[in-house]
Amino acid sequence: MKNVIAGNWKSNKLMAEALRLMKEIESGLTSEISAEVIIAPPAPYLSAFASEAKGVLQIASQQCSATGSGAFTGEFTAAMLGSCGVKWVIIGHSERREGYGETDNVIRKKLRAALDSGLQVLLCCGEPLEVRESETHFDWVQNQLMHALSGLSNSALESIVIAYEPIWAIGTGKTASAGQAQEMHAFIRNWLSICFDRSTARGCRIIYGGSCKPSNADDLFAQPDVNGGLIGGASLNAADFIAIVTALENR
Ligand code: PEP
Repeated sequence: MKNVIAGNWKSNKLMAEALRLMKEIESGLTSEISAEVIIAPPAPYLSAFASEAKGVLQIASQQCSATGSGAFTGEFTAAMLGSCGVKWVIIGHSERREGYGETDNVIRKKLRAALDSGLQVLLCCGEPLEVRESETHFDWVQNQLMHALSGLSNSALESIVIAYEPIWAIGTGKTASAGQAQEMHAFIRNWLSICFDRSTARGCRIIYGGSCKPSNADDLFAQPDVNGGLIGGASLNAADFIAIVTALENR
C-alpha cells in the first residue's frame, strides 16, 4: 500500500507564486519517492497545474460539484476536473462543511459524482472541539463515514483515502497527539473491516490532518494506522512540505 501526502493550499497564492511553489516542491522531490504526493491548488489554476506538473506530483481539486453538467452557475463537475488532467478531489473538508453548508448528504453526492468520473477522493472527517470534549468523537466520525460510504462496493474504497482531521487541530497549531491520531485511525480501520471486509480495511489509506508540520510529522507517521497526511499551512512552504514528505518516506 502506498502512503499518501497531500498539500491543501486553500485560497492562498496568486498564479505566479503558486507555480513557483509547485516548482520548488518538485525540485525537492526525487523520482524515487514511494508515497503518492498530491497538491491541491486553488481551482482557477488546476488546468495549468495539471499540464505543468512533472515527476511525482499529482494534482487535486479542493472540491467538486454534487451534480453533473447543466445549469449550475459557478459549479464545476468532477468530469470537468478529470478532463483537465486532475486526478484527485478533496471532499468533506470541515471548512466546506462549516462555511458552505455541505451536509453529509451533499458530501455523499459529491463522493459518488467523483467516483463516477474516475477521480480519486480524499474524504475528510473529524470532530469539533465540543464533541471531543464530550468524548463522543468516535460516534461522530463513524456517523460521517457511514453517511458517505454506505452502499459503496469494496472496490470503490480503493479510490478513496480517508483523511481524519479533528477540527480543533486544523489551522490552530494544536496537533492531535500521535496517540490520539492512532486511536482514531485504528477505530476507523476496524469500522471499515466490519462494514466492508478485513482486506479492504487493511488496504485503505487513512491519513491525518491538523497542524502537521516537520516537528511533529515523525511521531504521527510512526503510528501503524497513519498512512500519511493532509497538510494545510505547512504545505505553503516548500521546505516544510518537503520535510514532511521526507518524514513519511523515512517512517
Ligand atoms: C487542512 O486544512 O486540511 C489542514 C490540515 O490544515 P492545517 O495543516 O493548517 O491544520
